[in-house]
Amino acid sequence: MVKIKNLNFEELQDFVQNLGLEKYRAKQIAQWLYKKRVKSFDEMTNISKSARKLLSENAEIDVLKLVKVEESADGTRKYLFELEDGNRIESVFIPEKDWNTLCVSTQVGCPAQCKFCLTAKDGFTRNLTAAEIVDQYIHVQRDVGEDRRISNVVFMGMGEPLLNFDNVKKAVEIMTDRNMLDLSTRKITISTVGIVPGIDRMAKEMNKVKLAVSLHATTDETREKIVPLNRRYPISEIMAALKRYPADNIRRIMIEYVMLKGVNDSVEDAKRLVKLIKGIPVKVNLIPFNPYPGALFEPSPREQIEKFQKVLWDYNIAAFIRDSRGQDISAACGMLRTKEKKDVKIL
Ligand code: SF4
Repeated sequence: MVKIKNLNFEELQDFVQNLGLEKYRAKQIAQWLYKKRVKSFDEMTNISKSARKLLSENAEIDVLKLVKVEESADGTRKYLFELEDGNRIESVFIPEKDWNTLCVSTQVGCPAQCKFCLTAKDGFTRNLTAAEIVDQYIHVQRDVGEDRRISNVVFMGMGEPLLNFDNVKKAVEIMTDRNMLDLSTRKITISTVGIVPGIDRMAKEMNKVKLAVSLHATTDETREKIVPLNRRYPISEIMAALKRYPADNIRRIMIEYVMLKGVNDSVEDAKRLVKLIKGIPVKVNLIPFNPYPGALFEPSPREQIEKFQKVLWDYNIAAFIRDSRGQDISAACGMLRTKEKKDVKIL
């Protein structure tokens, strides 16, 4: 059985032709799958009954089962999905005044093991397929309704996207193909903890979407305590990769920086950050840490975050403090889990 949402448009055309159907059927099928978001081939009423039967004998549409939806006081919605092998993942819908964002997962758990992250506590199980990534969008869009169109997708949920490069690339192809989800490449952001070969590959194969890099520290000594993968890809190598990356002022690289009290939030850190990013078109996103019982870190006080931001502003660097959304339902950054843990209550 083919999981039909694993196929990009070209592959969908090959698939229908191999079944003996006309090539133009691919466009019709894609419309039903991605514009009307149907759940069965039987709903594809402009395709003959015999072709629909053939399709349902050879392909499957949905690969996720929606288990639970929670809504935060601020309107953020967190979705728990079950995969066909019983594993679970989460996605987060974040409504804004003028647009809606979906944060998707790319792996079950995460091998990166960042020390501040709840997802990391569940270990790593496997990569998601392209269909499992794309299906998060379809299910959430069906749930929130057509008048709340998801315009932006951020690959910032569970997992390190660049360690699942091929499937993420395929999911992006499906999301941006005008016959399929037809999202703007500029509205898609892929966030990495700094996988240097992945950044270089992205520069060649996926540079139309936005790149976000979770830097979180300005010295290797501090970064290793927060992001163990820094031993493999130290700051100097990450910055060299960003200098090679084809960014410009329209498509700036987002530097993500979680603010941890007394660890990485000093004015000296801010000044070192200025030096590190010199000459690279970036925006800096300062992320207030979401604490949880047993966490190794504490959040920086708001005044300290603002002091840090001011240093960046003084050097004309665009720096924002990210609003923490969905904290009351554990949907904020670094809070997604593969398992529902009874021992973890979010403050
Ligand atoms: S912060 Fe992101 S990359 Fe790091 S462990 Fe968590 S999910 Fe993985």
